Amino acid sequence: METDIAIIGGGLSGLSLAWHLAKAGRDFQLFEARARLGGRIASLQRVSPVQAPIGPLGYDLGPSWFWPGQHRMERMVQALGCKKFDQYASGATLIETESGEILRNLGLASMRGAWRLQSGIRGLIDGIAQPLPPDRLHLNHALSGLHQNGRLIFKEGQEYQAQRIVLALPPRLAAGLSFSPQLTPAQQQALTGIATWMGGQAKFVALYDRPFWREDGLSGDALSQVGPLAEIHDASPPQVELNKEAPAALFGFVGLPALARYGQKEAVTQAALAQLARLFGPKAAQPVTVAYQDWAQEAYTATPQDQSPLRQHPSYGLPASLQNLWQGRLAFCVSELAPDAGGYLEGALAAAEEQAELLQREPTK
Ligand SMILES: Cc1cc2nc3c(=O)[nH]c(=O)nc-3n(C[C@H](O)[C@H](O)[C@H](O)COP(=O)(O)OP(=O)(O)OC[C@H]3O[C@@H](n4cnc5c(N)ncnc54)[C@H](O)[C@@H]3O)c2cc1C
Repeated sequence: METDIAIIGGGLSGLSLAWHLAKAGRDFQLFEARARLGGRIASLQRVSPVQAPIGPLGYDLGPSWFWPGQHRMERMVQALGCKKFDQYASGATLIETESGEILRNLGLASMRGAWRLQSGIRGLIDGIAQPLPPDRLHLNHALSGLHQNGRLIFKEGQEYQAQRIVLALPPRLAAGLSFSPQLTPAQQQALTGIATWMGGQAKFVALYDRPFWREDGLSGDALSQVGPLAEIHDASPPQVELNKEAPAALFGFVGLPALARYGQKEAVTQAALAQLARLFGPKAAQPVTVAYQDWAQEAYTATPQDQSPLRQHPSYGLPASLQNLWQGRLAFCVSELAPDAGGYLEGALAAAEEQAELLQREPTK
């Protein structure tokens, strides 16, 4: 099969690029390694058949928030008709100290002012993918090699030909592809040096029939030096106040190192529930259901180098050595290499916007 533009990766960046190209009437094909679209975006949906009325509500297993001032996200949310709402932030924050003492302070919930989506962030992916021609979206297509003449080779053995190739996957995963001709050592080093934002994290979500912590004057926010959850937040949808059918939720980032939690899903789950009960009372040990997502174990998100969590947000962007590769036929489109807000959802949209503009300026000869 031949195409003008091959997009490799169906996360928010690659999919938004496909969305821009489809609107501009361009010829493209998108290839995604997983059996689903969304990449780092995943939400637990329709948790139980007996709670069917929860419909499109989503509980985020990847990103949860975007913030005022992230104009691309605001525009996209509006264009797709997704409903945003404020992160719940009323009430006291808890702190669990190293000695196990639980302090109930009057500090503000740390994500006050952030926005979430009623559908879960997953609603963005569903909304962007919905108008795209399904025959241009190829799931279960993991790229393994690419040639300067536009030949693409997939792990499953298929081959495609493209005029231009856009790698919409984390730079460290791009570094593991077989390039022909090979990248220079400097280019290879540049790719492996760019950490996948949040790639070493794991999230634990517990759903409850009601937000009982709010009744106790708690915001659901907690910081812990004991763990296993290091940082906890209310993850309930807004309907939780009106509609008892919409389960309330708490989520936490697992503070254990990736290697220590490897193969320990059950043990982490039990320890997380015990911790939630310590913090929020015995009801917290009785969830309707739980979900656990370890991104460090996802081969199409993280590499072994991403196992250690980052201490701070890196300064991202496209290094000079990765610009204008293969006379402009090879480009990147991923949040970490975005011109703005690298690492964030906003960065994924910025990367797609920039790449769409570049492709529009230089239509295929
Ligand atoms: C736990 C967690 C919490 C986060 N919280 C927030 C938050 O609250 N707010 C925020 O703004 N951001 C947050 N982020 C970051 C946000 O998720 C990312 O910025 C964004 O999703 C990146 O999208 P992307 O398309 O650039 O990359 P990805 O989502 O990584 O997409 C890359 C795609 O490429 C595919 N792929 C990989 N290798 C291949 C291959 N060989 N062939 C074909 N396809 C391949 C992958 O399967 C994937 O679909 C969080 C991330 C995580 C993991």
